[in-house]
Amino acid sequence: MIQYADIALNIPFKAEETLTYQIPDGMNRLQIGCRVEVELRKRKMEGVVIGVHSNMPSYEIKNIKRQIDKEPVVNSEQIQLAYWMRDFYVSTLGESLYKMIPTGRKNQLSEPVVVDSPELLTLNEEQLSAYKKIKADFGNEKIHLLYGITGSGKTEVYIHLLNHILKNTDKSAILLVPEISLTFQILYRLELIFGKQLALLHSNLRVSERYKNYLQLLRGEKRIVIGTRSAIFAPVKNLGLVILDEEHDNSYKEHSNPRYHARQVAQQRIKVNKATLLLGSATPSLESFFYAKKGTIVMHRLSKRAKSSGLSTVQVVSKKEDKELVGEDLLFKIKQRLERKEQVVLLLNRRGYSPLIYNRKEKKFIECPNCTSNLCYHSKGKAICHLCGYSEKYQKIQKEYPDSIELMGAGTQKLEEYLLEKFPGVRLERLDQDSTKNREVISSTITKLINRELDILTGTQMIAKGLDAPLVTLVGVINAGTGLGLPDFRAGERVFSLLTQVAGRAGRADLNGEVIIETVNTDHRVLQLSKEQNYDKFYDEEILVRRSLLFPPFTRLIRIVSRSSKEEKAKETIEKISLILLEKYKTMDHNSNYILGPVECPFFKIDSNYRFHILIKTNEQNLFRQIIREFVLPLGSSSVYLEIDIDPVDLV
Ligand code: ADP
Repeated sequence: MIQYADIALNIPFKAEETLTYQIPDGMNRLQIGCRVEVELRKRKMEGVVIGVHSNMPSYEIKNIKRQIDKEPVVNSEQIQLAYWMRDFYVSTLGESLYKMIPTGRKNQLSEPVVVDSPELLTLNEEQLSAYKKIKADFGNEKIHLLYGITGSGKTEVYIHLLNHILKNTDKSAILLVPEISLTFQILYRLELIFGKQLALLHSNLRVSERYKNYLQLLRGEKRIVIGTRSAIFAPVKNLGLVILDEEHDNSYKEHSNPRYHARQVAQQRIKVNKATLLLGSATPSLESFFYAKKGTIVMHRLSKRAKSSGLSTVQVVSKKEDKELVGEDLLFKIKQRLERKEQVVLLLNRRGYSPLIYNRKEKKFIECPNCTSNLCYHSKGKAICHLCGYSEKYQKIQKEYPDSIELMGAGTQKLEEYLLEKFPGVRLERLDQDSTKNREVISSTITKLINRELDILTGTQMIAKGLDAPLVTLVGVINAGTGLGLPDFRAGERVFSLLTQVAGRAGRADLNGEVIIETVNTDHRVLQLSKEQNYDKFYDEEILVRRSLLFPPFTRLIRIVSRSSKEEKAKETIEKISLILLEKYKTMDHNSNYILGPVECPFFKIDSNYRFHILIKTNEQNLFRQIIREFVLPLGSSSVYLEIDIDPVDLV
């Protein structure tokens, strides 16, 4: 009998999202969940088989060209999850499925080198109480928040819970950590403790390695997974627990279709599996904390540091923009630490050498030819765009504007140079996107820090999270106001969280810690609140702003971006979309639904694409999902791309 396969194609929204193809003779072992290659309008395409049957379709049908996998690469739970993602994120089934299968860059495998204790530590009272309550609630589809200050030992609670799952149940667990951050330290410890039961699915692995680990999970050979964002799709059997460490972190949000958030996918998976979700953070997202206060999420507090007596003291110091990159006070304290053989962490959240290249004659900054963005000067004589990656020789710019070019501002490369000059012979390493192109650098740098082979660690926000080095007693932040001016209602939350996290790197063991935050705007509310390191207070103030402006958690957002290399086309399309939405809006409740825009995106042009957006605030996301699927998506074309972002985290 002739067999047919229904295939979810890996393409953006089109009428033919799933199509039926004939299974040719000889391809008789094709199963649901295998990838195949097919032809659609003379083009080769990939898709996943989601059904096999013998019902001949009424239209002319082609053969499957090639079977890619011998065995299924997604299981039935994942296919169900993909249906949910398609509806929730207004995407396609194929695109959703392809988010789950490991593909991508060929990264270096970094060797775990930091050695720590493979023993479980005895939990303190607060840790034990949280552990017991969460454990007692297993199987109830509940969400818990472990709200613990930096250094309070959240990781140890995760470890005990994972250990319980492994030893006393037949269930599986997934632990998610933020991308490119130093939380990889956790990972090494877990490898020592759980050994062969642990599968890694993080972005630091080679694709082949990640794929191998993925298949082992699919076959049920391992029960504990640690990984970054997409590890939330890990095909484990019998899921019992999902943990999101640093749950507020933005790397949990995906930036291409479907634009999922790992926390939301986790919520869906624990519902289907009657499992538990644990969120952990010292600075939870405002949304999570709101629900924790309301009681929808169960909150557990860790109010004390596990090892040291208390949090570090924090000072916010006024620093005018002058020739000296680092203020006198901070320089003095760095020197003091170096003499005492203690360690220093210095954050400057700007990569490159000088973020601005100024043309005095024309009184403007040198811009990227492809983006609404200034070029940044990088050492080795390059001017680079941080939005699209465009790069040109600095010499070329100098030749073009002789005698009128000047570098302004400072990035991490300049800071590095400055410190090496100020403190000759100092052992210093810099971690930022440029220095960690080879990812091995991250783990070797942490190892050096912990082995006392390093005096100063400097870098961008990458160094703020997770790092647990006992000899770090001073944390300095240069230009702390960076980021506060972004046109995004979450700008304050991000800066507060970053400063709290980086402050949390100091004084984690026996020695007391000190934090110096340098800024031009010492009076800024967010910087003042960072000084107190009091998230509760920050929350109380920030939530009022959210309420008055009707931002999440008081409404849900949907962002629609239209982009095209032709400005007119992008504009025309967003205007059409606006008309459709406004027409529908007539019959909606005007007190709970708002349509803002269309306007140019703050980054109007990226990589030669012009961008316009509309922001919807609503309490009826489902209604808008339907409208978008039915009326908005068909307006996309090969020349105008539409981005649909449900619950966006970036508005630029
Ligand atoms: P957090 O993730 O909350 O910032 P960590 O989990 O990194 O904190 O813990 C901070 C430090 O305290 C780590 O060095 C950890 O080994 C140690 N620690 C955690 N719990 C305990 C405990 N119960 N007894 C002793 N040390 C602990």
